[in-house]
Amino acid sequence: MILPIVKYGNPVLRQKGANISKVTPEIEQLVADMLETMHDANGVGLAAQQIGKALQLAVIDIPTDSERPSRLWLDGKEADVQSIMPLVLINPKVEITKKKEIDGEGCLSFPGIGGDISRGYRVTVEYQDLEMKKCKFEAGGLLGRAVQHEVDHLNGVLFIDKMSKEEREAQKDKIEAIRLAAE
Ligand SMILES: [Zn+2]
Repeated sequence: MILPIVKYGNPVLRQKGANISKVTPEIEQLVADMLETMHDANGVGLAAQQIGKALQLAVIDIPTDSERPSRLWLDGKEADVQSIMPLVLINPKVEITKKKEIDGEGCLSFPGIGGDISRGYRVTVEYQDLEMKKCKFEAGGLLGRAVQHEVDHLNGVLFIDKMSKEEREAQKDKIEAIRLAAE
């Protein structure tokens, strides 16, 4: 089922997600609905907060025809990004390199807004999958950026928080219009 995507201004986007201790049938259904909602909106990632649930849960799916490259390492060995797609991240924890990389980003909760955001060049993520199995990978490029963006959501952090003052200022009216429409 396609769910409505929560827009900026809704307080749930500022809530830290609660840890998930068990994958119930409700969580399984939520994951299926989040994937369907994300694909329908042509997004590459979606956090539970964006469908109104403050949980440590996000989905990511990098399309095979993505113009922006992604890199993935499993057990230190470079691997095919598609081998772990679509990705369901439960209770993820990230370690981000000091080295940064700036690239363009958008967010389904901010329609029409975009900006250059500085993110770690590489990210290591530890999480649990739908079987609650502990998993780990390292990522760069678009996948690394998507992981950092989604894990920020799970902690109530939004991409406009990391936008340059100038870029945020230039889109101030558009951002305010989204906030007001959410009230
Ligand atoms: Zn987002």
